[in-house]
Amino acid sequence: MKRIYLDYAATTPTHPDVVEAMLPYFSDSFGNPSSIYSYGQEAKGAVEKAREQVAALIGARDDEVVFTSGGTEADNSAIQGVALADPERNHIITSATEHHAVIETCRFLERRGFKVTYLPVDKEGLINPDDVRNTITEKTCLVSIMHANNEIGTIQPIKELAVIARGAGVLIHTDAVQTAGQIPVNVDDLGVDLLSISAHKLYGPKGVGALYIRKGTKLVPFMHGGGQERNRRGSTENVPGIVGFGKATEIARNVIAGEIERQTQLRNHLISGILEQIDGVRLNGHPTNRLPNNVNVSVDYVEGESMLLNLDLENICASTGSACSSSSLEASHVLLALGLTHEQAHSSLRFTVGKWTTDEDIDRVSEVLPRVVARLRAMSPLLKSHK
Ligand code: PLP
Repeated sequence: MKRIYLDYAATTPTHPDVVEAMLPYFSDSFGNPSSIYSYGQEAKGAVEKAREQVAALIGARDDEVVFTSGGTEADNSAIQGVALADPERNHIITSATEHHAVIETCRFLERRGFKVTYLPVDKEGLINPDDVRNTITEKTCLVSIMHANNEIGTIQPIKELAVIARGAGVLIHTDAVQTAGQIPVNVDDLGVDLLSISAHKLYGPKGVGALYIRKGTKLVPFMHGGGQERNRRGSTENVPGIVGFGKATEIARNVIAGEIERQTQLRNHLISGILEQIDGVRLNGHPTNRLPNNVNVSVDYVEGESMLLNLDLENICASTGSACSSSSLEASHVLLALGLTHEQAHSSLRFTVGKWTTDEDIDRVSEVLPRVVARLRAMSPLLKSHK
């Protein structure tokens, strides 16, 4: 039976052309980019070409892109880097639905005396821009709001939030890990000072990402060490990973328009297939202002984990929330922030489509899921206790 992978938001398979581009940088052009002899300079050239490719995806200048070990490090560097740069300002504004990479960094800073406001979202996951406006004080150093949510796909009005933040002299960071390569992301159009991206969400390798830092932004480096990345991030560059990241962004630029259209159709097809065939299902997240690849539903009286395991037996891979939290039994903080009960949050299922998803895959899920739900409901203690 063909395995159907519908968890592209957790990670994507590395594109074969990306793997091919990376291969020479393991054992042939393996030099350290800091070395001045030819091996080193070949590697350095490859890193700089990748920097141009990544910069082009987000409309940045090459020297505004700093390579990191992934989205988590980019988020940590942005938030801690700004927080430590100005001792006079100790207040950060973020949202209740951020990725753990942002929330846990903020909690870490709170334990060290910083004040953090976690703004609420409405029932579709949107921030109210007035809340940002009303929460900024003269002590605020940073607004950090994600571009789109990894669990529910809701896309935030970053452009509007950036006007508010920058108008008040406050820096704005956005976690664009789920949007770069999926929908247009342009740092000038969004008006942000800092932006995080990750290669493995856009058909690149794991363990590499980037932080965009607008020219002139004051930031304390997160990784202290050698003078790599113009003294902004110590450590010998992950040359093969960076080359693969660059190639992945180049491919993404070429296919993005067509993929948005194709994936939106697949997504809508799956949403209607689920909503029409199963009673007691709600779509989580914004109905239209959502990522082209994201479907997140709560299915009454059935646990997400049970659906997931039953789908796995049918060779279908989905998720019950973010990959990082799906191994714990805690209800998703994102779904709770939308106002869902713990029961509803525990009954959620996320499907994310991608480059290799076909119409046949969606047809199969639309055929299998109603069967799985009916079987689980027939033995559900949750349903019995509601009767
Ligand atoms: N931010 C968001 C929105 C994510 O979805 C993820 C990954 O799940 C990350 C940050 C972390 O990225 P990485 O896995 O590259 O550290």
